[in-house]
Amino acid sequence: MNVKTLPLGPVQANCYIVTKGNHAIVIDPGDLFDLDSILAQGPYTLEAVLLTHAHFDHIKGVDAIVRSHSVPVYIHPQEVAFLKDPSLNASVAFYDRVSIQSPALPLQPGRMNLADFEIDVLFTPGHSCGSTCFIIDNALFSGDTLFQYSIGRTDLPTGSFMEMKESLVRLSSLDDQLIVYPGHGPSTTIGMEKRMNPYLLSL
Ligand SMILES: [Zn+2]
Repeated sequence: MNVKTLPLGPVQANCYIVTKGNHAIVIDPGDLFDLDSILAQGPYTLEAVLLTHAHFDHIKGVDAIVRSHSVPVYIHPQEVAFLKDPSLNASVAFYDRVSIQSPALPLQPGRMNLADFEIDVLFTPGHSCGSTCFIIDNALFSGDTLFQYSIGRTDLPTGSFMEMKESLVRLSSLDDQLIVYPGHGPSTTIGMEKRMNPYLLSL
């Protein structure tokens, strides 16, 4: 498995292109980018778009990908409606109005198979009610739940600090060797965060 990180958009949310064999998935396409030239390097067949949550800075590029590749888009069932809604996707508060028209499929917690990818879907509410983490092989895509030495804010609509704490307890029980690819900033590991992240240390 290979992971390519592209910080996109005005708040530089990390978009991840994950490839394995001749297959690719995109996690959190927060703005437009040249996906086709990345896919041509394999060449890789794009299988799906996975969303860690529906905030504007993680979703703005979804429609362009679906238009050109007709792939399914997966998100927590409670955030399907956020994609179209500029208040719930927080774009109205920070940016211009973002409204995604592509249909999205509801994720289920647990194991999900997509082509060569075996994905563990973890619902980790707190930053938003439908925040989700994905474990693929030795990587955890943590969205805005867990950052290097920090965590996502809980003061946006549907955020909850109590739920965030429960989600962090869950993440801190994962394998120390897991590489964490967060929604913003550099990658880290679960073990490093358990030693250095003040929010995990204070659980
Ligand atoms: Zn967010």
